[in-house]
Amino acid sequence: MWGAIEHLGRDGRTRGYLRDAWSPADLELRRWFGQEAARRGLDLREDRNGNLWAWWGDPSARPGVVTGSHLDSVRQGGAFDGPLGVVSAFAALDLLRARGFRPARPLGIACFTDEEGARFGVPCVGSRLLTGILDPDRARALKDDEGDSLAEVLRGAGRDPGGLGRDEETLRHIGVFVELHVEQGQDLVHRDAQVGVASAIWPHGRWRFDFHGQANHAGTTRLADRDDPMLPFARTVLHARQAAERNGVLATFGKTRVSPNNANAVPGLVSAWLDARGGDENAVRALVDELIDFSGAEVTVESWTPVVDFDAVLRERVAAAAGGAPVLPTGAGHDAGILASAGVPSAMVFVRNPTGISHSPEEHADRADCHAGVTALAAVVEDLCAS
Ligand SMILES: [Zn+2]
Repeated sequence: MWGAIEHLGRDGRTRGYLRDAWSPADLELRRWFGQEAARRGLDLREDRNGNLWAWWGDPSARPGVVTGSHLDSVRQGGAFDGPLGVVSAFAALDLLRARGFRPARPLGIACFTDEEGARFGVPCVGSRLLTGILDPDRARALKDDEGDSLAEVLRGAGRDPGGLGRDEETLRHIGVFVELHVEQGQDLVHRDAQVGVASAIWPHGRWRFDFHGQANHAGTTRLADRDDPMLPFARTVLHARQAAERNGVLATFGKTRVSPNNANAVPGLVSAWLDARGGDENAVRALVDELIDFSGAEVTVESWTPVVDFDAVLRERVAAAAGGAPVLPTGAGHDAGILASAGVPSAMVFVRNPTGISHSPEEHADRADCHAGVTALAAVVEDLCAS
């Protein structure tokens, strides 16, 4: 399975992945998901928000146990963030079938759409729409760098953007969701463990800062006459670092859009995206408020996810089924976190990442650890499907 997808959306020069939602690479990955479902005789469904579900058994009869993740990537991302959870879900099902296991309740494999938000700026679009956390009108109006709206992109992919929004029927099918994911940190390295289980996801969010100025000629406009939005943006980036250190949280400006984006022009507009997160919600909020005041920019909240504590009973059950895996918090957002915050019992299994590097072509997990992840996931699914 890994060999069938590892070339899809890969940049030949950097070896990083470019798997924007609804891009040709993403559409190929979705087709691959459908083929893997068909090969196993699973019932493939695409919900109104573009999420894919492959069912063994009928979830309308009884809510099922669902596992899976996503197939899209950040730009220049790694191979494991997302696909490891989907491939491991199919592999765990194969392992259980090879042992002659028959689930007492339906078993589903999920592929959530646009988890990373690389194209439209908002992460976990598929699960946020499914749960009603993201307003469908707002989603339809989201624009990519080309100026195409999500509604237009969906229509181009043969989907109906009018169907977006909270999907009660699909939600009813999910009795419990377990997402396996490559760890994005080195906690498991330090604990000398191959797999772990998530305790909580830190509160985190994204804000768009629009710095307005006046576009003009870089050679003929005197410094004194310029209204250059790059300057307050630069000051804000430096201030964000200091404020983050002071508040004990993380703050990152990792994406900008400059207009007109010419080497010989003073920009007229700098849009920059702040990602802020941390263990203490009040500290994150205080940092963002301070930056909004300091920057003088026009600021739009693009997403905010309060702290997600995964269901403690489920978490302990998953940790036990996974062979006594350690329980650890994470600073990364996931579809499992969105579902948990919407009241769906959810859990996460992490696979060790030797360097901790993620959202980069260097992201890696050793084969033996990936296999340990599949074994653990199969045990978890077997346990949850048994009753
Ligand atoms: Zn991910």
